[in-house]
Formats: sequence, structure tokens, C-alpha cells
Amino acid sequence: MKEINVLVINCGSSSLKFQLINSASEAVIAKGLCERIGIEGSQMTYTPAGGEKYEVKTPMEDHRSAIRLVLDALVDKDRGVVKSLDEIGAVGHRIVHGGENFASSTLITDEVIKAIEECNDLAPLHNPANLIGIRACKELMPQTPMAAVFDTAFHQTMPEEAYLYGLPYHYYEDYKVRRYGFHGTSHSYVSQRAAAVLGKDYKDLKIIVCHLGNGASVSAVKNGKCIDTSMGLTPLEGLIMGTRSGDIDPAIIEFLCNKENKSVQEILTVLNKESGVFGLSGGFSSDFRDLEKAYRAGEAFAIRTMKTFAYRVAKYIGAYTAAMNGVDAICFTAGIGENSPFIRTMIASYLGYLGITLDEEANVKRGEEIAISTPESATKVLVIPTNEELAIARETASLV
Ligand code: AMP
Repeated sequence: MKEINVLVINCGSSSLKFQLINSASEAVIAKGLCERIGIEGSQMTYTPAGGEKYEVKTPMEDHRSAIRLVLDALVDKDRGVVKSLDEIGAVGHRIVHGGENFASSTLITDEVIKAIEECNDLAPLHNPANLIGIRACKELMPQTPMAAVFDTAFHQTMPEEAYLYGLPYHYYEDYKVRRYGFHGTSHSYVSQRAAAVLGKDYKDLKIIVCHLGNGASVSAVKNGKCIDTSMGLTPLEGLIMGTRSGDIDPAIIEFLCNKENKSVQEILTVLNKESGVFGLSGGFSSDFRDLEKAYRAGEAFAIRTMKTFAYRVAKYIGAYTAAMNGVDAICFTAGIGENSPFIRTMIASYLGYLGITLDEEANVKRGEEIAISTPESATKVLVIPTNEELAIARETASLV
């Protein structure tokens, strides 16, 4: 494979994260974040490798101006990292929803853009922003090949019984209402790294990946393929998250609309933005560092919140162990999964039936791929730091 620099772009509705990664060394050459795009107070933070982080506060009226600013920073003669844009061999775009159109990453063509557009309905906040990023890059770097890497693609191998809901079948046929799942790049990367850490063939393993960050999801990966995952049509389903409710009885929506005299839209905003551990803790915090501190101080609101969070994760692990008829390894990743020995211990306390014993010393280590179960543990428990940007850069480099 030819050595190139890949610009990884992750466009949110008002933000843009980027990393420039060398495909051979896999080193991050520069990275940064544009925030408040299209709103007052926009700014870019930019960190060149080996250099100091700096901030530029300047109006960015849209994603195009944000990307222009990023490209200018990358080629800047004082603080830039490349001499010209020709040194960027490809752009990899993170795309949230590929629907059933994409089971893998793909080079971006006009047809691909159209197919991503068809999925806008399924991710109305994310896909349009992703498309703006693609169009802006196309305009500013027309000769540079670009790839789309989908959050949903890894989960497209799920069998029908895992992705169908118990709804009239024509909703699936007419509107493609089904489970899609998200964080696919992370679940794929982490499960493959788990096989490498265990020194086993990916295709011989049953792995459960717990991606526990502000957004959180679990997946079951059997013989190298995803067979189930906790997020659904949208990223609202499944685990209790930072501010998202995860699974609830759907009848709660109408019940609350009536009680609170709110519209469905308003209640959905509550489910997305005011629920999860934030809501459960009575609005205390969505950050596990705060919750952990409060738990240790014996605060009842933090105890109930963390217990409910951990219980839900353990319940999914049980379900996926059943779905795969066993499990060889359970992996923790993302902000909470990688950094909180406390929550990992809490979840593991439900898993005695899997013959799990944790290695307390390994469990408190940080920032490395590590087995945190003892050698005797019947099921292995691993911490694998996720790296979605690197996974996107790899996919992009292999496509071009
Ligand atoms: P992510 O979405 O993967 O970036 O994860 C962000 C979340 O990780 C934060 O909101 C925190 O709840 C959690 N987190 C980060 N660092 C720690 C830590 N040291 N201990 C516990 N939770 C952490």
C-alpha cells in the first residue's frame, strides 16, 4: 500500500473534528477541532505533532469556511505540517448513517453522495452535516480521493432476527424501520484488537464490546461478524447514556406528553438531552468523574444512577452471551470504559456466572491495551482504547 497522509474529518451539526494521519507510521501529524460553526463565538483549536496547541477565534459561517481554515492551518508556513495540499493523499469522512445502502466503507462518488442523502431521514441531525463536509472538501480539494466510513456499516451483518422490531413488517418494507446500530468503527476496531491481544484468530472468537462513552452501546461479535448491537434505528436505544435514556417502554412517551402537556418532539428532546445518568442523578452531571466522586461520598442519587447504569450494561452482556451461546472476551472501551476501573468492577460484579475474576492491579492501569482479568478467569476481560480516527484513516488508505 502506498504511503499517504489521510485527513480524517468528522462533521457534527456545528462542529468539525479533524486529524491528519500518516498511513505508514500511523502517526497523528496534526489534529484539532472547529466549534460553534455558524454560531457566534466560533473557534478552532489546532495541535501540530510536537508543537503547541493554539486557538483561532474567528467567524466560521459554515462548514466550508471551517474546512478552509483547517486546510490553511495545515499548510501554514510557520505552524503547518505539510508544504501543500498535494501532500494530503486522501480524505476520510465519518458518516453516521449508511442505512442498508452501505455494508462497508466506500470511495465517494456522485452516486455515493446520493445514497448517503437517501439516509438523511434516518439521521436528520448528522447526515446533512456529514454531506456538507464532503461537499466542502470536494470543492476545496477536487483532485483528492475521498472515502466514506459509516458508523452503521459494521452492524450490517446482523441477522434478520436481531435487526427486526416486533412491528408490522410493512414498516420495515416501506420505511426501513429496523435496528442499524452505531459506533460501528469503534466496535470493529476494538474487537479486532481484542483478537490480536489474545493472540487468537478473530474468526474463532465470541466477543462482546462495551463502548461506554457519553454515547454508549454494546455489540456481540461472533466469528468476526457483528450479530447484534444495542443501538437501534437511532442512537437513542439501548444503554443508559450521558443524557440519553436508552431502552424505555414506548408507551412512556404518550404518558409523559399527557402529564407534562408536551409534544412528542419535546419529550424526545427530554429522552435525548435530559435523561440518562444526567436525568437519573436529578440533573447533577452526565460526567462519570463527578458521579463517581459523589458515589464515594455516599450520595444516594449517585449510587442509584451508577447502579442502574452498570446493571443495564450487565443485562446486555447476559443477552449477548445467550445470543452467541457463550463469550470468550468482554472488552471495555471509550471514555468511561477505558478510564473507570470503578464502573468496570461494578459491571463485573454481575458476571460471576461467566467465571470472571478481575486482576485488581491491571484494572487500575490506564491508556493501554490490557487484560484486566486474571489468567484463570474463564472469560477474558480486556480494556482496549478505541481509535476511530485511526480506523477511518486505515479504511481510507486501503480504499485509495
Ligand atoms: P467519550 O464520549 O468516549 O469521549 O467519553 C466521555 C465520558 O467519559 C465523559 O463524559 C466521562 O463521563 C467519561 N470519563 C472520562 N474520563 C473518565 C475518568 N477518568 N473516570 C470516569 N469517567 C471518565
